Amino acid sequence: MNRISRRGICLVLSAPSGAGKSSVSRALLECEPELRLSVSATTRAPRPGEQEGVHYFFRSPEQFAAMVAEGGMLEHANVFGRHYGTPRAPVEEALAAGRDVLFDIDWQGHLLLRAALPGDVVSVFLLPPSLEELERRLHGRGQDSAEEIARRMQASHDEISHWGDFDHVLVNRDFHQTVAEVRAIIRAARSTRLRQPWLPGFVDTLLRH
Ligand code: 5GP
Repeated sequence: MNRISRRGICLVLSAPSGAGKSSVSRALLECEPELRLSVSATTRAPRPGEQEGVHYFFRSPEQFAAMVAEGGMLEHANVFGRHYGTPRAPVEEALAAGRDVLFDIDWQGHLLLRAALPGDVVSVFLLPPSLEELERRLHGRGQDSAEEIARRMQASHDEISHWGDFDHVLVNRDFHQTVAEVRAIIRAARSTRLRQPWLPGFVDTLLRH
Protein backbone atom coordinates (compact mmCIF):
# COMPACT_ATOMS: atom_id res chain seq x y z
CA MET A 1 0.00 0.00 0.00
CA ASN A 2 1.25 3.51 -0.77
CA ARG A 3 2.06 5.73 2.17
CA ILE A 4 -1.30 7.10 3.24
CA SER A 5 -1.34 10.87 3.50
CA ARG A 6 -2.56 12.87 6.44
CA ARG A 7 -2.88 16.59 6.97
CA GLY A 8 0.04 18.06 8.90
CA ILE A 9 -0.27 19.39 12.42
CA CYS A 10 0.70 22.80 13.75
CA LEU A 11 2.65 22.30 16.95
CA VAL A 12 2.81 25.51 18.95
CA LEU A 13 5.52 25.46 21.59
CA SER A 14 5.25 28.47 23.84
CA ALA A 15 7.07 29.53 27.00
CA PRO A 16 8.46 32.57 28.76
CA SER A 17 11.95 33.47 27.47
CA GLY A 18 14.54 31.29 29.17
CA ALA A 19 12.23 28.35 29.94
CA GLY A 20 14.23 26.16 27.56
CA LYS A 21 12.00 26.45 24.52
CA SER A 22 14.80 26.92 21.98
CA SER A 23 16.70 23.80 23.11
CA VAL A 24 13.54 21.72 23.09
CA SER A 25 12.61 23.04 19.62
CA ARG A 26 16.07 22.23 18.28
CA ALA A 27 15.94 18.69 19.64
CA LEU A 28 12.46 18.10 18.17
CA LEU A 29 13.55 19.29 14.74
CA GLU A 30 16.54 16.93 14.88
CA CYS A 31 14.61 13.83 15.86
CA GLU A 32 11.31 14.41 14.00
CA PRO A 33 12.10 14.42 10.27
CA GLU A 34 8.55 15.39 9.27
CA LEU A 35 8.61 18.48 11.47
CA ARG A 36 9.76 21.86 10.05
CA LEU A 37 10.12 25.15 11.83
CA SER A 38 7.93 28.04 10.78
CA VAL A 39 10.35 30.92 10.32
CA SER A 40 8.71 34.09 11.61
CA ALA A 41 9.19 37.62 10.38
CA THR A 42 10.19 40.24 12.92
CA THR A 43 11.10 43.90 13.13
CA ARG A 44 13.64 43.30 15.91
CA ALA A 45 17.37 43.39 15.15
CA PRO A 46 19.25 40.09 14.71
CA ARG A 47 21.15 38.80 17.75
CA PRO A 48 24.72 37.64 17.24
CA GLY A 49 24.72 34.45 15.20
CA GLU A 50 21.14 34.78 13.98
CA GLN A 51 20.74 34.31 10.23
CA GLU A 52 18.21 35.78 7.83
CA GLY A 53 15.68 33.13 6.77
CA VAL A 54 16.93 30.61 9.33
CA HIS A 55 16.05 32.17 12.69
CA TYR A 56 13.82 34.95 11.42
CA PHE A 57 13.08 37.03 8.36
CA PHE A 58 14.35 40.39 9.61
CA ARG A 59 12.17 43.14 8.18
CA SER A 60 11.75 46.90 8.57
CA PRO A 61 8.47 48.08 10.16
CA GLU A 62 7.37 49.24 6.69
CA GLN A 63 8.12 45.88 5.05
CA PHE A 64 6.35 44.08 7.90
CA ALA A 65 3.24 46.28 7.56
CA ALA A 66 3.16 45.57 3.82
CA MET A 67 3.23 41.78 4.44
CA VAL A 68 0.29 42.16 6.85
CA ALA A 69 -1.66 44.39 4.43
CA GLU A 70 -1.23 41.85 1.61
CA GLY A 71 -2.70 39.08 3.79
CA GLY A 72 0.68 37.37 3.85
CA MET A 73 0.64 36.70 7.61
CA LEU A 74 -1.31 33.92 9.31
CA GLU A 75 -1.00 35.81 12.59
CA HIS A 76 1.03 38.70 13.91
CA ALA A 77 1.52 40.31 17.30
CA ASN A 78 3.48 42.92 19.14
CA VAL A 79 5.96 41.35 21.59
CA PHE A 80 8.38 43.49 23.66
CA GLY A 81 7.45 46.46 21.45
CA ARG A 82 8.53 44.68 18.25
CA HIS A 83 6.37 43.07 15.58
CA TYR A 84 6.48 39.32 15.06
CA GLY A 85 4.43 37.33 12.57
CA THR A 86 4.01 33.99 10.82
CA PRO A 87 4.27 34.05 7.01
CA ARG A 88 1.20 32.27 5.64
CA ALA A 89 2.30 30.48 2.44
CA PRO A 90 4.96 28.09 3.81
CA VAL A 91 2.60 26.87 6.55
CA GLU A 92 -0.36 26.25 4.27
CA GLU A 93 1.84 24.40 1.78
CA ALA A 94 3.39 22.22 4.48
CA LEU A 95 0.07 21.23 6.06
CA ALA A 96 -1.45 20.31 2.70
CA ALA A 97 1.63 18.18 1.91
CA GLY A 98 1.27 16.30 5.22
CA ARG A 99 4.27 17.87 6.91
CA ASP A 100 4.08 19.13 10.49
CA VAL A 101 5.06 22.65 11.42
CA LEU A 102 6.60 23.80 14.67
CA PHE A 103 5.82 27.33 15.88
CA ASP A 104 7.89 29.26 18.35
CA ILE A 105 5.33 31.99 18.99
CA ASP A 106 3.89 33.77 22.02
CA TRP A 107 0.47 33.34 23.66
CA GLN A 108 -1.16 35.92 21.37
CA GLY A 109 0.17 34.16 18.28
CA HIS A 110 -1.17 30.86 19.61
CA LEU A 111 -4.73 32.15 19.94
CA LEU A 112 -4.61 33.89 16.56
CA LEU A 113 -3.21 30.78 14.86
CA ARG A 114 -5.95 28.60 16.39
CA ALA A 115 -8.52 30.97 14.91
CA ALA A 116 -6.75 31.07 11.51
CA LEU A 117 -6.33 27.28 11.26
CA PRO A 118 -9.18 25.66 13.20
CA GLY A 119 -8.49 22.03 14.04
CA ASP A 120 -4.84 22.12 12.99
CA VAL A 121 -3.22 23.45 16.16
CA VAL A 122 -1.84 21.38 19.02
CA SER A 123 -0.27 23.55 21.67
CA VAL A 124 2.25 22.96 24.43
CA PHE A 125 3.23 25.47 27.08
CA LEU A 126 6.56 25.01 28.87
CA LEU A 127 6.84 26.28 32.43
CA PRO A 128 10.21 26.85 34.09
CA PRO A 129 10.72 24.97 37.39
CA SER A 130 10.97 28.37 39.16
CA LEU A 131 11.40 32.06 38.34
CA GLU A 132 14.91 32.00 39.91
CA GLU A 133 15.85 29.28 37.44
CA LEU A 134 14.37 31.35 34.62
CA GLU A 135 16.49 34.38 35.55
CA ARG A 136 19.59 32.22 35.88
CA ARG A 137 19.03 30.83 32.37
CA LEU A 138 18.50 34.31 30.89
CA HIS A 139 21.81 35.48 32.42
CA GLY A 140 23.53 32.26 31.39
CA ARG A 141 22.76 32.67 27.73
CA GLY A 142 24.72 35.94 27.74
CA GLN A 143 22.87 37.43 24.77
CA ASP A 144 20.88 40.19 26.40
CA SER A 145 21.73 43.30 28.45
CA ALA A 146 20.73 43.55 32.14
CA GLU A 147 17.96 45.96 31.12
CA GLU A 148 16.67 43.53 28.50
CA ILE A 149 16.74 40.66 31.04
CA ALA A 150 14.72 42.73 33.54
CA ARG A 151 12.19 43.49 30.78
CA ARG A 152 11.96 39.82 29.82
CA MET A 153 11.48 38.73 33.47
CA GLN A 154 8.53 41.10 33.72
CA ALA A 155 7.17 39.79 30.43
CA SER A 156 7.58 36.20 31.73
CA HIS A 157 5.00 36.88 34.44
CA ASP A 158 2.53 37.98 31.78
CA GLU A 159 3.36 35.06 29.50
CA ILE A 160 2.94 32.49 32.30
CA SER A 161 -0.49 33.87 33.16
CA HIS A 162 -1.72 32.50 29.79
CA TRP A 163 -0.84 28.87 30.55
CA GLY A 164 -4.57 28.01 30.68
CA ASP A 165 -5.01 28.62 26.93
CA PHE A 166 -2.81 25.66 25.99
CA ASP A 167 -3.76 22.02 25.26
CA HIS A 168 -0.72 20.65 27.11
CA VAL A 169 1.40 22.14 29.89
CA LEU A 170 4.80 20.73 30.88
CA VAL A 171 7.20 21.82 33.61
CA ASN A 172 10.63 21.74 31.99
CA ARG A 173 12.61 20.15 34.86
CA ASP A 174 14.51 17.70 32.73
CA PHE A 175 15.33 18.49 29.11
CA HIS A 176 15.29 14.87 27.83
CA GLN A 177 12.04 14.10 29.63
CA THR A 178 10.41 17.23 28.20
CA VAL A 179 11.49 16.34 24.66
CA ALA A 180 10.13 12.81 25.09
CA GLU A 181 6.81 14.15 26.36
CA VAL A 182 6.42 16.58 23.47
CA ARG A 183 7.22 13.76 21.02
CA ALA A 184 4.46 11.67 22.57
CA ILE A 185 2.05 14.59 22.12
CA ILE A 186 3.07 14.86 18.45
CA ARG A 187 2.54 11.13 17.85
CA ALA A 188 -0.89 11.24 19.45
CA ALA A 189 -1.92 14.33 17.47
CA ARG A 190 -0.90 12.74 14.16
CA SER A 191 -3.32 9.85 14.58
CA THR A 192 -6.53 11.70 15.40
CA ARG A 193 -9.46 10.86 13.14
CA LEU A 194 -9.65 14.33 11.62
CA ARG A 195 -5.99 14.27 10.57
CA GLN A 196 -6.64 11.25 8.36
CA PRO A 197 -9.28 12.24 5.80
CA TRP A 198 -8.72 8.97 3.90
CA LEU A 199 -10.11 6.91 6.80
CA PRO A 200 -13.81 6.79 5.78
CA GLY A 201 -12.86 5.35 2.35
CA PHE A 202 -10.43 2.91 3.93
CA VAL A 203 -12.99 1.68 6.45
CA ASP A 204 -15.58 1.30 3.66
CA THR A 205 -13.16 -0.91 1.76
CA LEU A 206 -12.36 -2.90 4.90
CA LEU A 207 -16.01 -3.57 5.58
CA ARG A 208 -16.77 -4.54 2.00
CA HIS A 209 -14.33 -7.48 2.03
P1 5GP B 1 12.74 36.53 20.57
O1 5GP B 1 12.89 38.00 20.27
O2 5GP B 1 13.32 36.17 21.90
O3 5GP B 1 13.25 35.66 19.45
O4 5GP B 1 11.17 36.24 20.67
C1 5GP B 1 10.39 36.98 21.53
C2 5GP B 1 9.00 36.41 21.60
O5 5GP B 1 8.33 36.54 20.35
C3 5GP B 1 8.97 34.93 21.95
O6 5GP B 1 7.98 34.74 22.95
C4 5GP B 1 8.53 34.28 20.66
O7 5GP B 1 7.81 33.10 20.91
C5 5GP B 1 7.65 35.36 20.07
N1 5GP B 1 7.50 35.17 18.62
C6 5GP B 1 8.45 34.82 17.72
N2 5GP B 1 7.94 34.73 16.49
C7 5GP B 1 6.63 35.03 16.60
C8 5GP B 1 5.54 35.09 15.65
O8 5GP B 1 5.67 34.83 14.45
N3 5GP B 1 4.33 35.43 16.14
C9 5GP B 1 4.13 35.70 17.46
N4 5GP B 1 2.89 36.01 17.84
N5 5GP B 1 5.11 35.65 18.38
C10 5GP B 1 6.34 35.31 17.95
